Amino acid sequence: MAIATINPTTGETLKIFESLEDGEIAAKLELAQQTFEQYRQTSFQLRSQWLQQAANILEQEKADFAKLMTLEMGKTLKSAIAEVEKCALVCRYYAENAPNFLADVTVKTDASHSFVKYQPLGIILAVMPWNFPFWQVFRFAAPALMAGNVGLLKHASNVPQCALAIEDIINRAGFPAGAFQTLLIGAAKVADLMADERVKAATLTGSEPAGASLAAASGKQIKKTVLELGGSDPFIVLESADLEAAVSTAVTARMLNNGQSCIAAKRFIVAETIADQFEKLLLQKIQALKVGDPLAADTDLGPLATPGILQDLDKQVQIAVESGAKVLTGGYALEDRPGNFYPPTIIIDIPLDHPIAKEEFFGPVALLFRVRDIDAAIKLANDSPFGLGASAWTNNEEEKNRLIQEIEAGAVFINSMVKSDPRLPFGGIKRSGYGRELSIQGIHEFVNIKTVWVK
Ligand code: NAP
Repeated sequence: MAIATINPTTGETLKIFESLEDGEIAAKLELAQQTFEQYRQTSFQLRSQWLQQAANILEQEKADFAKLMTLEMGKTLKSAIAEVEKCALVCRYYAENAPNFLADVTVKTDASHSFVKYQPLGIILAVMPWNFPFWQVFRFAAPALMAGNVGLLKHASNVPQCALAIEDIINRAGFPAGAFQTLLIGAAKVADLMADERVKAATLTGSEPAGASLAAASGKQIKKTVLELGGSDPFIVLESADLEAAVSTAVTARMLNNGQSCIAAKRFIVAETIADQFEKLLLQKIQALKVGDPLAADTDLGPLATPGILQDLDKQVQIAVESGAKVLTGGYALEDRPGNFYPPTIIIDIPLDHPIAKEEFFGPVALLFRVRDIDAAIKLANDSPFGLGASAWTNNEEEKNRLIQEIEAGAVFINSMVKSDPRLPFGGIKRSGYGRELSIQGIHEFVNIKTVWVK
């Protein structure tokens, strides 16, 4: 895939970048390693100060960064602004909390003093997706830099200007040159980077094939990885739920980021006693969404990020229909305009035994299922290769407890949509990946947890 900015709203190629030559990659690796030797000695106070400054830059220039995201991958400008604000938040969170998270922990044993010490590992490679082009990177960079690691970013090939802007923000914030560098390279170069002795670990957010490929390359080198992969999150609505709130949230949770979010609600699993009402309300709200220019303030849904994503989604919907499913609204690419537009879509009557029922739909398509009771709801929710997040709606305490206990996912949200929050760990189980980002667990992924024993 060429490294280029192609506006998904118009299809226009705005800028093409040359990928780095091998010699240029080698020079950046060497700079990262040299910087690490110095950077690991810097104080928490200094790192915090730089990270706070990065937050200031993000806040001051949020309109520019947001526009860049919208131009490169098509999210609505208002959601892009919110994304930049959230990046500032994660920077401030780790600037304030990392010194505590990484402080020595004394453990009483029969030694005169035994404790746990957290030390940086070195160069960490981050392979990142285009869907939250700033957030995905900052939620890695903020804890990694606070821990004393240095970062190399291989961003998705369709968001090169976001990648360069992030490097620039971190440099301008005061971090030493080489603490965080963007590598404009294709995916084929990732395995070689993992084989370099100076690269100590990697994190990847993206698809299952990309995760499997990075994990294989890292496995060969016995290097740690964190993988944040796909999801087909269930959104369960039981009889006692506040239906109006559940439907409004369902629309937001599915259509967020033009439907391209790993933690979007994708499978709506509704108790049959309220399913007709749920379906009617959902249809009304989804048909009221405005599809159009993502820069316009009143647009709810912009284009999909690339023509390839549009084609894949269209194909999945066709397969669902061929398998016997019905389309309630939407269901075809919008060919009356340039760009990668797909309308908000609802599909019902999907045969449960067809493979399509288990796939991730990475776009504005809601799959609606009816179930008899909570047992059937939990069974269907868990009948997925993925296990990222789950949202469940009920006002019955016993049901809440069962949902919390029995749903197989990295996160369960009751009467709310799944969302990431710097204060809470984020990650999946099953084919959604392993490891955690954010919170104290996130910063502990890329450190040497050293045991010290003094007799
Ligand atoms: P993708 O194709 O896997 O791309 C993600 C990143 O991986 C890009 O930088 C890509 O580079 C790189 N890549 C692709 N193939 C690779 C390989 N064989 N080896 C190493 N790197 C490789 O992902 P996508 O389809 O754009 O993103 C959507 C997927 O990401 C969805 O499944 C979504 O659910 C998931 N996602 C998960 C989370 C989470 O936190 N769990 C968050 C967001 C998205 P190129 O662009 O150069 O190909």
